[in-house]
Amino acid sequence: MSSLRYLALQEMASEEKKVAHYGGKRITSMFASNVFTGRAMREYLSDEAYKSLMNSAKSGTKIDRKMADQIAAGMKAWAEERGVTHFTHWFQPLTGTTAEKHDSFFTIKSDGTAIEIFDGDALIQQEPDASSFPNGGIRATFEARGYTAWDPSSPAFIMEAANGKTLCIPTIFIAYNGESLDYKAPLLKSIAALDKAAVDVCHYFDKNVTKVTTTLGWEQEYFVIDETLANARPDLVMCGRTLVGHSPAKGQQLEDHYFGSIPDRVYEFMQDFEQESYKLGIPLRTRHNEVAPGQFECAPIFEEVNIAVDHNSLLMDVMNKVAKRHKLKVLLHEKPFAGVNGSGKHNNWSLATDTGVNLLAPGKTPRTNLMFLTFFVNAIKAVHDHADLMRAAIASANNDHRLGANEAPPAIISVYIGKYLTEVLDEIETRVKDKFSEQDEVILKLDIHKQIPELLMDNTDRNRTSPFAFTGNKFEFRAVGSSANCGSPMTVLNTIMAQSLKNFKRDVDALIEKGEKKEVALMHVLRDYITNSKKIRFEGDNYSDAWAEEAKKRGLNNFKTTPEALDAFVTDAAKKVFFENNIYSERELDARHEILLEEYVKKVQIEARILGYMATNHILPAAINYQNVLAENVRGLKDLGLGESSYKAQLNILKVVSGHIQEINDNVEAMIEARKKANNVEDMHKRAAMYCNDVKTFFDKIRYHADKLELLVEDKLWPLPKYRELLYLR
Ligand code: ADP
Ligand code: MG
Repeated sequence: MSSLRYLALQEMASEEKKVAHYGGKRITSMFASNVFTGRAMREYLSDEAYKSLMNSAKSGTKIDRKMADQIAAGMKAWAEERGVTHFTHWFQPLTGTTAEKHDSFFTIKSDGTAIEIFDGDALIQQEPDASSFPNGGIRATFEARGYTAWDPSSPAFIMEAANGKTLCIPTIFIAYNGESLDYKAPLLKSIAALDKAAVDVCHYFDKNVTKVTTTLGWEQEYFVIDETLANARPDLVMCGRTLVGHSPAKGQQLEDHYFGSIPDRVYEFMQDFEQESYKLGIPLRTRHNEVAPGQFECAPIFEEVNIAVDHNSLLMDVMNKVAKRHKLKVLLHEKPFAGVNGSGKHNNWSLATDTGVNLLAPGKTPRTNLMFLTFFVNAIKAVHDHADLMRAAIASANNDHRLGANEAPPAIISVYIGKYLTEVLDEIETRVKDKFSEQDEVILKLDIHKQIPELLMDNTDRNRTSPFAFTGNKFEFRAVGSSANCGSPMTVLNTIMAQSLKNFKRDVDALIEKGEKKEVALMHVLRDYITNSKKIRFEGDNYSDAWAEEAKKRGLNNFKTTPEALDAFVTDAAKKVFFENNIYSERELDARHEILLEEYVKKVQIEARILGYMATNHILPAAINYQNVLAENVRGLKDLGLGESSYKAQLNILKVVSGHIQEINDNVEAMIEARKKANNVEDMHKRAAMYCNDVKTFFDKIRYHADKLELLVEDKLWPLPKYRELLYLR
């Protein structure tokens, strides 16, 4: 009998794969064709409705009911012309995926006539049957009401799937009492907080600024493997990563994959999901191979952060769907394969004014340069003050495999700014003296604007080991996991930046009130911030043991696991900064903490179950079969009266195999016991710690013996597709 693996390998070779390409179509001809864009609004909305929606998108003004009815009617007309039959409120609950509940436009009036309708009510608010979304105790089941509420700042779009078309309304997801249960609601609040704080600080330099927008450009890494092979592995199906599997003979040591040519099958898949993305208005720009075999990356042009987060969530969904058409499976997991690089999602973050200035790009005049320095230093100060929140924002069971492993940024948060800007900050620190009278000269001497842009391009490089690096005109948060919702890290970053800017303004104004000149006051506060945030800056190799030691001396935390890292959300400092910036109430933070811990427990629990199952139902039977082969062989040789020398090797292998079988059996049993103990603990924090420290420890042990068996057991008998088969796509 052939193993599942052999059948999968055969089927994979004979499958018909979908062909997809651009066929000469221009991207501009399809871009945003499924989005209710400004242009579509112009066409389908009255002047009044158009203005109301535009205003709301720009400045958050409320849209009244009458207007919402008009907008809904326009949206419906636009959508129906494109063959849409259903609509859904589209939202991003804390499960980490996106959620939809489809309703049709179709309804029956009281007199029995069937009509199609979509009114302001349906547009503005829905009540999904949402008691099953994680809520951290905010919604007791008896009051299981959660609402989705329209976010007019992100345009509606049409999702095409399986030949159906659905109008999707981006929404926030909140409990009946207004407490947030998703990623978008806090993100929107953080955007507003940062806008206000940044505009206030901009006014030191330019009174014309009325709005500051946060920008995000993400870079999405992912693996692509054959779907049929993936389906033959319970771990890939259920956990999105392999729990066992020996490294292939050829790993990434040849480094021949990075920027190498893209395999045809994957290339067709890329062209397909790119076109779906373009229709949805996702401005994808780059695609390439990544370091590991089977690993790739795509990145869009950066956008306003709320839209960028929506687009990333959408993209992940689109990729999963489109991959199926190609009999492929996309792995967005942070660490699908041991021994090869994991996947991240760099979050490039910056701030832009409505006067067209990137606040993190060095300026062309001393004055705008001082503005750059102000925002630059405040970002460093923000990370310094709340590094633990940054770590918490990216904590997940998946990302634990990556942070701290020797490839991705470590779990220690630090900021890299490059040699040149380090010199600039050092100069400010040493030359700005306390005696205010000497200041004018000092400030003029800091006329660094001429050299900065050119130098930066060369010098901001590429400390690939840093979790948070300045890269010329933006900061790049590199420790974010590939499957994460960017809303979490962006909310934290925006919030702590808002807080830093508010403190900055308070400190500068205090000096100005004492009669200090504005520029002098600015320089002084900057100098203090530079001095006070120094310990967060690190230019060296983040992977080295020396850094872990040095960081410890500096008092920087190194939370290697999610349960530890998440605690930062419920400290007094966290509660204060979130509360003061109107992002989360204390209750919301507690709930979120609980939800994330529970999410962690569930992830590890599922992995433990699947690992136990695979060991018992796949690996041990294969090993026992092979044991039988060996035993029979030994017995046969013995029966023939051949001496021990003729079966010595077989007997040896048999003993080794038996040893591994025993170890796997014992460890699986012990793991089940540990799980039972953890499940009996009510306190979610304790339970998460137990899953982390007592259950997960068995993963490596079981894996070790399973991987040894993979090397010993006859290939034909091995049931699980091997790494070399998964990673080297034909
Ligand atoms: P790389 O880092 O690969 O050399 P780039 O520096 O050009 O490439 O950009 C990487 C990512 O940074 C892209 O997704 C891009 O959209 C984004 N990006 C560039 N400028 C900004 C900005 N001002 N704000 C946010 N993201 C940006
Ligand atoms: Mg990058």
